[in-house]
Amino acid sequence: MVRLYAATTSAGKLRDFRTAAQAYSVSIEPLPGIEGIAAPDEDGDTFLANAAAKAVYYSRFAPGELVVADDSGLEVDALGGAPGVRSARYAADSGLIDSPDANDNTDVWNNMLLLQKLEGIPDTLRTARYHCTLVAARDGQIFQIADGSVDGKILDAPRGMGGFGYDPLFYLPELGKTMAEIDLATKLTLSHRGRALAALLPKLSA
Ligand code: IMP
Repeated sequence: MVRLYAATTSAGKLRDFRTAAQAYSVSIEPLPGIEGIAAPDEDGDTFLANAAAKAVYYSRFAPGELVVADDSGLEVDALGGAPGVRSARYAADSGLIDSPDANDNTDVWNNMLLLQKLEGIPDTLRTARYHCTLVAARDGQIFQIADGSVDGKILDAPRGMGGFGYDPLFYLPELGKTMAEIDLATKLTLSHRGRALAALLPKLSA
């Protein structure tokens, strides 16, 4: 059984990782002591740069072990791919809030800003995708990389109570539902994070 440490303090991401790993002979645990480790800056221009920096950095705290880190975000075509790598900090970058971590309502502010930017844009032009890049590293070296994405559209009002982040606005045309209206198991089969994990895990256990 391959053991993998997840470099995340997000309970939601950890739950996603563990649920997806059940289908493979891989066990995923949180990186021991991660709460006490200073987080590196996430100021790269690409998902890969950020995920690689995190995986390489955190792997040094668990010698000999595989450590996986992710970076993800929402790319909206009508906004030239924004918010992209800045998804978590979208409202903060615009000065609407101080910092993404300083405000419990960060998701609400981010969603509000997104709706404002898309005001007047017709349905056909509201195409978007979630993207996730995963990097597994060991002893400060990149070991494997995998990507996943899911296409959708941005609604003009939120729908659903599940998920997090931009999920209430992210509509999946094939399902006729937003990401906030589907259960976790379904979300993992089609989400960017679920798909990236499905691509990464076989590479690790092979
Ligand atoms: P990071 O990967 O922790 O840098 O966070 C990326 C940001 O992208 C999150 O804070 C959310 O705003 C957004 N995001 C990434 N994945 C999802 C998702 O599955 N649902 C909703 N929003 C997401």
